[in-house]
Amino acid sequence: MNGLKLPRIKLCQLPTGLEPAPNLSKKLGINIYFKRDDNTGLAIGGNKGRKLEFLLADAVEKGADVIITTGGVQSNHTRMTCAACRKLGLEVILILKGKRPATFQGNLLLERLMDADIRFIDVPSYDEINSAVDELIDKLKSEDKRPYYIPVGGSVGLGACGYVDGAFELFKQADMQDMDIDYIVNAVGSGGTSAGLEVGVRLAKKDSKIIGISVDEEKSVFKQDIARIAQDCADILKIDLSILPQDIIVFDDYIGEHGYGKPSRKGIEAIKLVAQTEGIILDPVYSGKAMAGLIDLVKKGYFEEGSNIVFMHTGGTPALFDMLVDKKLD
Ligand SMILES: *Cc1c(COP(=O)(O)O)cnc(C)c1O
Repeated sequence: MNGLKLPRIKLCQLPTGLEPAPNLSKKLGINIYFKRDDNTGLAIGGNKGRKLEFLLADAVEKGADVIITTGGVQSNHTRMTCAACRKLGLEVILILKGKRPATFQGNLLLERLMDADIRFIDVPSYDEINSAVDELIDKLKSEDKRPYYIPVGGSVGLGACGYVDGAFELFKQADMQDMDIDYIVNAVGSGGTSAGLEVGVRLAKKDSKIIGISVDEEKSVFKQDIARIAQDCADILKIDLSILPQDIIVFDDYIGEHGYGKPSRKGIEAIKLVAQTEGIILDPVYSGKAMAGLIDLVKKGYFEEGSNIVFMHTGGTPALFDMLVDKKLD
């Protein structure tokens, strides 16, 4: 995007495709397109790549030599951060919230192949993780290292700039296909993707609505988080916007019966439907649940007839191989 005058390092395969989904659209009776951010590259793709282009450019500019980041045991964000750091020749330390599993599958397998320095911390919340990170930063500094910390999901104002740019990329593709986007539907895990899209829509002066499907927190929490990150992002870009929690649309009805990080029955059904109609593979933690939300909202008549809906496919593919491996799928 022309207006984003921030340091940026090319890490992703961009633009990602914008594809119609004719069979799924016919089945659901509404026009669905996929924005293929599952194909951004960085060791099997996903939405964190766009954020990392800005975050790691900042790290390099500040002279960092070791990147620290954090996430769940099957974090796509830590896997992609690790891949980006390998590409840039930066050291990386991954702090994973949870128990060390007996086998390393999915994202962990990929991290192991990249010889990641993985440290498991089994604590209930990110508050404890943050104090562990603070200690680690102090220790690294005392060893004359220059650490740079990327918070969970890369969901800070600077990371969200990746999705301001992503929104511009999407609108350009839609314009070329002569299509107006009425809705953009995406999974919400830490809010940075939604925040960037919210800023992007306003900056591009479009009236597409961003529909977040929570896979984790209650909607009241995410409305606050997304508005705050979007405001930080607008401030970094020096654009005069005011984005309030009440402007943000989030649904929290699709987290599933077992909570964050666990496949849900409706999510698996949605994964199968999309695989069987379009040959597109969603994931059990994020995009499958977001698609379950989209399908349910279509059934409830939430979207006006004839609407064009873009489903942001945020990736997550590796977790499939960890979570659905022994599951009965029918
Ligand atoms: C992190 C992630 C999300 C959520 O994006 P946020 O910006 O954290 O809200 C969605 N899908 C996948 C596959 C992810 O890894």
